[in-house]
Amino acid sequence: MFEFKTITLMYENNLDFAIKTDKEDPLNKYRNEFLIPTNNKGEELVYLCGNSLGLQPKKTSEYIQQELNDWAKLGVEGHTDAKHPWLPYHEFLTNSMSKIVGAKPSEVVIMNSLTTNLHLMMVSFYQPTRNKYKIVVESDAFPSDKYAMESQLKFHGYCEKEGLIQWKPREGEALCRIEDLEQIMQEQGDEIALIMIGCTNYYSGQLYPLKKITQIGHKYNCLVGFDLAHGVGNIQPNLHESGADFAVWCTYKYLNSGPGSLGGCFVHERHANNTKLNRFAGWWGHNKETRFNMRHEFDVLPGAEGWQLSNPAILSMAAIRASLDLFNTAGFSNLVTKSKSLTGFLEYLIEDLKNPKINIITPKNPQERGCQLSIQVKDANRQLHTLLTQSGVISDWREPDVIRVAPAPLYNSYQDVYKFIQRLKKILN
Ligand SMILES: *Cc1c(COP(=O)(O)O)cnc(C)c1O
Repeated sequence: MFEFKTITLMYENNLDFAIKTDKEDPLNKYRNEFLIPTNNKGEELVYLCGNSLGLQPKKTSEYIQQELNDWAKLGVEGHTDAKHPWLPYHEFLTNSMSKIVGAKPSEVVIMNSLTTNLHLMMVSFYQPTRNKYKIVVESDAFPSDKYAMESQLKFHGYCEKEGLIQWKPREGEALCRIEDLEQIMQEQGDEIALIMIGCTNYYSGQLYPLKKITQIGHKYNCLVGFDLAHGVGNIQPNLHESGADFAVWCTYKYLNSGPGSLGGCFVHERHANNTKLNRFAGWWGHNKETRFNMRHEFDVLPGAEGWQLSNPAILSMAAIRASLDLFNTAGFSNLVTKSKSLTGFLEYLIEDLKNPKINIITPKNPQERGCQLSIQVKDANRQLHTLLTQSGVISDWREPDVIRVAPAPLYNSYQDVYKFIQRLKKILN
């Protein structure tokens, strides 16, 4: 078990410490597998924005080039004769992906993009009845997820204002309390059909307890799903064990697969052959043996693969493979350990600024957060973010006064974190 306390005690606030820790870090070599953006003088930027778009692995172009070459050489025959045949291409991603989300391979598939997958999952797992139709969501959910849920309510003929229940932080607090979710369920559980929560909140960085939420939902006969966009690649969600009914995520944030790349989807094995679920179908979800006979009745594949619609974007999948191969060799549990240590260092340095204007809204307990810290700066405005950017730090600004920084364990270093704090300190003074 990871011992956070001992690591905290070891931190020191100086550059030598950061350099030494990078040297001792067995995962530090992976930084060199990435293309780090630079300023116009060719100096590396301090990139702490993997929560928005992960960096490009150096090998990505090679992986994509392979598919371009096979396409040039083979045309349509590439579906079967490419080095990595396109017909089963998604299967090459499944094993590594399933380890990162803690699922069985049959429970995981890469397909479509995130919001699309959320809709497809709600087609199956949000099947409201007259009296049980409400959806619970955390109050600061990512807007796209909220739009998806509201439009699903409307699609089924319900009023989205009444049907969408917000799990909110209490007055004067920034984080959601599990007791308050329990309270909502006690009061309205009979009317709630679905609990759909982000796993790590994109704004506060709070990691919700997936298993606990699932148990609460199932107790009231509700289905439970999660959006892992901000968790996948930096925390271990243990999806199978959590018992969640479904989950969705994207691969372009911490999984570094490039802008707009494909998303992922988890369906718990208890639903693998569940024919009672509604489902929007397409030929890629059809029995692989008879898919090309064309005139058959839909014969759905068991497991998550059965939710596929279209033949997927191979060039994007090649980029995902390039990144997942790095996760595989680094070992995901090692990355999670490093992540806790690196984010702990960031927290230590922020606290050591001893600036009364700064407040970290993300939970202090490492088990209740991923790698991102959301830093609230009293009286600050966008100017602060602009100055940070000019100083060579890529971070993320959320109105009215929050900087989000996310050291990604695969390519960020202790020196990145140290440099960020030095520059922030200078700007705040
Ligand atoms: C990044 C993100 C999205 C973006 O959705 P796309 O469909 O990939 O554009 C949606 N939801 C959450 C929680 C996100 O973090």
